[in-house]
Amino acid sequence: MLDKFKDECGVFGVYGNAEASKLAYLGLYALQHRGQESGGIVASDGGTLRAARGMGYVADIFDEQTLAPLVGTSAIGHVRYSTAGESRLTNAQPILIDCVHGQIAVCHNGNLVNERELKDWLSSQGAIFQTSSDTEVFLHLYARSQAAHAEDALIEAASQAQGAFSLLFLLKDRLVAVRDPHGFRPMALGRLGDAWVVCSETCALDLIGATYERDVEPGEVLIIGPDGLRSVRPFPRAALSHCIFEHVYFARPDSLVFGESVNQVRTNLGRYLARESRVAADVVVPVPDSGVCAAVGYSEGSGIPLQFGLIRNHYVGRTFIEPQQSIRHFGVKVKLNPVRSILQGRRVVLIDDSIVRGTTSRKIVKMIKAAGAKEVHVRISCPPTVSPCFYGIDTPRRNDLIAATHTIDEVRKYIDADSLQYLSMEGLLQSVNSHRERYCTSCYTGRYPVPFPRDEAAFLQLPLGLDTRTQIDR
Ligand code: SF4
Repeated sequence: MLDKFKDECGVFGVYGNAEASKLAYLGLYALQHRGQESGGIVASDGGTLRAARGMGYVADIFDEQTLAPLVGTSAIGHVRYSTAGESRLTNAQPILIDCVHGQIAVCHNGNLVNERELKDWLSSQGAIFQTSSDTEVFLHLYARSQAAHAEDALIEAASQAQGAFSLLFLLKDRLVAVRDPHGFRPMALGRLGDAWVVCSETCALDLIGATYERDVEPGEVLIIGPDGLRSVRPFPRAALSHCIFEHVYFARPDSLVFGESVNQVRTNLGRYLARESRVAADVVVPVPDSGVCAAVGYSEGSGIPLQFGLIRNHYVGRTFIEPQQSIRHFGVKVKLNPVRSILQGRRVVLIDDSIVRGTTSRKIVKMIKAAGAKEVHVRISCPPTVSPCFYGIDTPRRNDLIAATHTIDEVRKYIDADSLQYLSMEGLLQSVNSHRERYCTSCYTGRYPVPFPRDEAAFLQLPLGLDTRTQIDR
């Protein structure tokens, strides 16, 4: 499979529409890029919450029959890639429980950095965990709360969490959206007639014909119920840390995240990259799909024509059968194929959004050279990724990130490119039009806005010279 940071999760909620579960299904369909391992929907008819969850893609999990029992005018849904906890059905979300405060369902995009401490404490108090995901912690904290009102119990639970959380809770007559005070993960609020919609990215609003109203603000709790929408801000203020990687890679280019067009930011990344790392070449070729917008920007900035010299097969499923006589680089070949007529005899600028372990980049460069390219100059639309993420993205550990343990020239040699350049941190921050100080850039700097677990800290603090796990095979 392609060597990328893994997408995290996507959440979608709707309140006040007779077809709530069908809208949730469509919303999740639009958010499928944020998680492909499992999906689920919980709907409320005002008295009872009902759930349907499964492994795999949204279109495979749900059909008319699965959606039929999910009656009611409010629903929440989730697509998941396992950033915390392994991949199995019991970890699929939303998680639905019944407790002293009544039925409640939750779904979560993000990752708690104090999960271990909270779980240890809850276990010592007798809590029994059904899943290995950090999201369940919220439900245990909620169930134990002595607060008289369910909303207060929810706020009390969320107040004990540290890290990244964009959460949706569904109660029998209310939908509650909670975003952590740092605002790591995006969350948008929309309107569909009289109904309210809350979702990870605005592309989900577009699909169901809803209008974008605004973002759910960092640190904001939105309570949507029979009396309308109410906003409270129960958490202490914190420095904002929007995940800049949402713009670089994760989010769909047709979405607005953190108030900015992803397409626009990604195109800017390419323009700055062209300014910083010009090279004499004949053609700009994106690694599809995530490199396309930056390649457009690079082409505009450099004046070198853009052509689609790599074609992506969009219909590759989760697994594929390989012939017994194994084919070299099959995993990449089955997804990407070079266009010889574009590449033959040309000097190629290859635009990609990141290099993680370097394994895929190496195969792609080889593929392009085998198709007849004279030179391959790799340009990456962000700085070298040198540190893992603890805020909701599945990343390898530091020692497996090639740029953390090798110089840029060593990486260039490994991927066998004629030249390699990354976008500078300044170029990255210039590309987000507003409020550069609001972004988390920890995977490029190793400076973390929210402290992470001690064992990870020890691992990260290994001096570079002692790293032995990533060996470059030449
Ligand atoms: S560490 Fe990187 S991937 Fe994680 S939240 Fe920060 S910018 Fe995003």
